[in-house]
Amino acid sequence: MTQIALTIRAIRVIGAIRGSICLVAASLLMLDSACRLNKPSLGPTDPEPGVPLSLATQRAQAIEGLTYNLSFSIPADPAQPVSAHVIIRFATKDISHPVVLDFSPGADYLKSVSVAGKPSHYRLVKDHIIIPKEEIASEDNTIDIAFRAGDASLNRNPDFMYTLFVPARAHLAFPCFDQPNLKARYALELDVPSGWQAVANGAETFHETAGDRVRIRYAETQPIPTYLFAFAAGKFQLEATERNGRWYRMFHRETDAKKVERNKKAVFDLHASSLEWLEKYTGIPYRFGKFDFVLIPSFQFGGMEHPGSIFYNAASILLDESATENQMLNRASTIAHETSHMWFGDLVTMQWFNDVWMKEVFANFMAAKIVNPSFPNVNHDLRFLVSYYPPAYAVDRTAGTHPIRQELANLDEAGSLYGNIIYDKAPIVMRQLERILGPAKLQDGLRVYLKKFQFGNATWLDLIEILDTRTDLDLKAWSHAWVEEAGRPSIRTASEGDRVAFIQSDPQDGRSLRWTQHMDVLIGANNAVTSVPLEIQGERAETKITAGISKPDWILPTGAGLAYGDFILDDSTRRFMLQHLPDLKDPLTRGAAWVTLWEEMLDRRVEPSDFIELSIRALGREDTEQNVQVILSYVSDLFWTFLSESQRREIAPQLEQILRAGLGRTGSSTMKATYFSAFRSTVTTSDGIAFLERVWRRQEKIPGLTLAEPDEAGMALDLAVRSVPAAAAILQEQRARFMNPDRRARFEFVMPALSDQQESRDAWFDSLKDVRNRRREPWVLEGLQYLHHPLRAASSEKYVRPSLDLLVEIQRTGDIFFPTRWMNATLGGHNTRSAAKVVRDFLSQQKDYPIRLRRIILQAADELFRAAG
Ligand SMILES: [Zn+2]
Repeated sequence: MTQIALTIRAIRVIGAIRGSICLVAASLLMLDSACRLNKPSLGPTDPEPGVPLSLATQRAQAIEGLTYNLSFSIPADPAQPVSAHVIIRFATKDISHPVVLDFSPGADYLKSVSVAGKPSHYRLVKDHIIIPKEEIASEDNTIDIAFRAGDASLNRNPDFMYTLFVPARAHLAFPCFDQPNLKARYALELDVPSGWQAVANGAETFHETAGDRVRIRYAETQPIPTYLFAFAAGKFQLEATERNGRWYRMFHRETDAKKVERNKKAVFDLHASSLEWLEKYTGIPYRFGKFDFVLIPSFQFGGMEHPGSIFYNAASILLDESATENQMLNRASTIAHETSHMWFGDLVTMQWFNDVWMKEVFANFMAAKIVNPSFPNVNHDLRFLVSYYPPAYAVDRTAGTHPIRQELANLDEAGSLYGNIIYDKAPIVMRQLERILGPAKLQDGLRVYLKKFQFGNATWLDLIEILDTRTDLDLKAWSHAWVEEAGRPSIRTASEGDRVAFIQSDPQDGRSLRWTQHMDVLIGANNAVTSVPLEIQGERAETKITAGISKPDWILPTGAGLAYGDFILDDSTRRFMLQHLPDLKDPLTRGAAWVTLWEEMLDRRVEPSDFIELSIRALGREDTEQNVQVILSYVSDLFWTFLSESQRREIAPQLEQILRAGLGRTGSSTMKATYFSAFRSTVTTSDGIAFLERVWRRQEKIPGLTLAEPDEAGMALDLAVRSVPAAAAILQEQRARFMNPDRRARFEFVMPALSDQQESRDAWFDSLKDVRNRRREPWVLEGLQYLHHPLRAASSEKYVRPSLDLLVEIQRTGDIFFPTRWMNATLGGHNTRSAAKVVRDFLSQQKDYPIRLRRIILQAADELFRAAG
């Protein structure tokens, strides 16, 4: 599974949003419960709703030889029911318990249930069908169910439909054992309108048209879990090609034939080269027969790795003629990522979704190996640094952080596992693992792992066990610190005569954890840089300063962009960096120095005023796009959160001048957009605001930067929150400017949050207490960010407590990422002691508060607590 790619991941230049890196596709895992219609009572021994771990464990131990024989009859009209039928066959080692199937649509959707050919005395409870133990034998069980399929995970549209069952949404459509470690073979028959195409995991074996309907059967699959079972049907076009003796088919709905023609060769090539690379790397041929993929408009993710039938978001595969190198890199990465899953995730699957991070991180890791060499112009190490380290630190430095591996009691809650620690810290940890083992031993260990567990399931610990025999290092201890525990090491540089030592400690009281890692330390002296590879295991690691260097100018343990932690630089390095960081020649070293200095600033070892002064000097010279993005995101955050009002006033003219100069100087349109966002976010002088107003009024153009409707809308809001004299008129005019009705509706929704009347803002905030007014979550978040804008913070502090009070309900009623984003938008504009006190008081008053929500609050409040002291 991939997120929909957003180019600037770690950057937070728009608005004073902090702690929130809005990188994850909004509806990553939709946990839709609206479709669960049955409300029968629950007996004392009945399984809980959802898919609880206890039930899944018991079933995985008992059930064997599982197969599903499924048929679905799909009408063209999405309002008409999908009638369906399933025959489930299995053996069981446990005939002393009833067999529990998962099925959530409820009684109205069940037509008949028979076991071994006789009507079953089954019971329905929420989310489950319970088959009495008396009807179950140890061998050859056949449960035959006629039903209407639930629509919730069928994504039915007028001309097409597709299934999306990850993580446990198959039982929203059909009765099954909906867990990753009960793999089964699936035989499928589809009955669809004639004129429709259909595709599933297996190859087509039978095709018959009768009247206006087509019946299609598919070959039985290899053993796969429910979340990988998939089919799509509808008005699709089909392209096919052969590469090295294998056929690849692409289903799509693109009407622009030229676009398809322009893209298809590259898309087929990327699949074929990824597949061949993986067969070589793993030593295991592709095991799922045919290879098709389906391009779906508005698909929820970037891609989903159903074996034999990968689904993609069409827009990320069929690129426009003007596609940037970055978009092409993202496309190649997405294709390599999904193809890697055929081994990592599909062939060997996690036992439980608490290890979902593992398949994702391996897919990314393989994708980088496959794709990066084809993009020699990209600085991949710098890209890795700026993509992963800032967002990982943004959570891992806080009191609300958590381990990569988390407990998961019920698959209903699988969505809550996702966040920066999984997406951003895990790839860093995986790269460390390869450094420790070396690429050859890691590859060798992965081959053993894939072979041993093929068509089965394994945990992270199963892999660590295999890898542990390939290194002298205690890999279990390594894994414990990095994967099973939360947080990061604190590592201090100490100069001791002709030696430099790095001393690590555990910032968490009473734990004394030690993180083993490789650090490529860079030492600068007399304009030359020496790289010293160093492994830190216990409390310290040290290196001798070579004879040629009498006294280093600087020592940067993070210099090569590898080491992870909270680094306390020595005083002379810190002084040097604050003077000369922009003089460092290597862009990666500069990037690493920026990331390190930012953490030093947050820990108050670097003064905010020194940091912004350095940024202003650096921006005039920095020409590496990724570094400019990092610096600008830090500047916007620091400006509002860590500078006093008088410091802001003092620095503003200089800052705006450098941002406008950057806007004029840079050639690339993405750089211009980054500079303009930073300018919009931080502008406070009357000159600067007047310039912004002229641009919004279309009286002044920024050469090379095209401003679309959403940009103009944002500018209007930025002007309004700064209370320019014409604010009300600007908002009204912007409203009239909209051509797009959805964007106009969004703007109208947000407008009252910017009113200069306190009563209007109060009323807007009060309206959010009604769930119906929170349905459009991106609208709510945009309004909240302006409501709590730093310029309005004094009058919006009173909304902080009621927002905290609402959080439990926000989680209950909203998308999985809404609680985090709600808190970030609420606290992002505040930096006062009184606001920090409101949060601290709330946390101390809530005794049995849900742990995951407490963490979310602590993550979002981190910079507020630091700024307030
Ligand atoms: Zn994935």
